[in-house]
Amino acid sequence: MKTILTGDRPTGKLHLGHYVGSLRERVRLQNSGEFDKIFIMIADAQALTDHAGTPAAVRENIFNVALDYLAVGLDPAKSTLFIQSQVAELFELTAYYMNVVTVARLERNPTVKNEIAQKNFSTSIPAGFLCYPISQAADITAFDANIVPVGEDQAPMLEQTREIVRKMNELYGEILVEPDILLPQNQVCRRLPGIDGKAKMSKTLGNCIYLSDDSKTVAAKVKDMYTDPLHIRVSDPGHLEGNVVFTYLDAFCEDKETVAEMKEHYQRGGLGDVKVKRFLTEVLEDILTPIRNRRAEYEKNPAEVMKMLKDGTKVAREKAAEVLGRVKRAMKINYFD
Ligand code: ATP
Ligand code: MG
Repeated sequence: MKTILTGDRPTGKLHLGHYVGSLRERVRLQNSGEFDKIFIMIADAQALTDHAGTPAAVRENIFNVALDYLAVGLDPAKSTLFIQSQVAELFELTAYYMNVVTVARLERNPTVKNEIAQKNFSTSIPAGFLCYPISQAADITAFDANIVPVGEDQAPMLEQTREIVRKMNELYGEILVEPDILLPQNQVCRRLPGIDGKAKMSKTLGNCIYLSDDSKTVAAKVKDMYTDPLHIRVSDPGHLEGNVVFTYLDAFCEDKETVAEMKEHYQRGGLGDVKVKRFLTEVLEDILTPIRNRRAEYEKNPAEVMKMLKDGTKVAREKAAEVLGRVKRAMKINYFD
């Protein structure tokens, strides 16, 4: 069996980082027909670990993320789209996995460490937040997933999941499947920088181009994009390092030859930022226009979108219950069987 599990937090609309880091890959894998099962999860419970005070926003974003999924081409006939909090089995699994992970190990997780610093939790870290890698291990293993297509920031989560799987299997027998991460082939897509040049485009950092942004907004964001501060006159030689416009061309433009020529011209001098930005805007528009159009179609029918999530959640729940049953039997806590 080849099974995929992946997902996103409903902390906002999805952006270009999600697109190249994971969504585009998911759609490709979905349409390859190589997978027996594909589970795509909207991780609302995980979103609440650092957004406990704003449940209404999380609720609204479930719908936004679902629209983005359908808009990029995820197809409920081929992929099971579901809502994490409605699969209670995941939280039971999390509770048992907690016993095989130390607090020190959680505190060492580099992504969690980074996010804690970013969110200014200082010493008031919600226990749920510190433990979200364990909950993620439950999300992955509850579906016997062996492939997890995600961006690079998720590598430490996958590593931690694999450790939990090995530990559980060592204690209770071969009950869980050890998953592999699947990163985008294209290096720049593994962690797309923000439009401000910061290391990661992220909802939390507010440096995103959203899949649902209209043409005007996209053009304005590209216009403001960080380039080379030393490239003042068009004739000056320009630099590519840290130049987000070229990074995005590497991530989004299929025509590698043209990009190579532009890079050469830019470095030599004589190619202005305005021109490069105009070209990037066109490249992005080609990708975003069909996505926007599909989004607008689904947006008209919220009941249908919610029904799709409800049906998917039912399917997900059945699978998770099967795995939880297996785990509980192995742990000898199936008293009433
Ligand atoms: P938040 O700030 O709420 O954590 P986020 O923008 O980091 O939001 P997530 O929902 O945490 O988004 O991530 C969902 C998926 O998208 C993960 O697989 C993650 O690796 C991927 N991803 C997110 N941002 C990027 C990015 N800038 N480049 C590549 N992949 C990304
Ligand atoms: Mg994140």
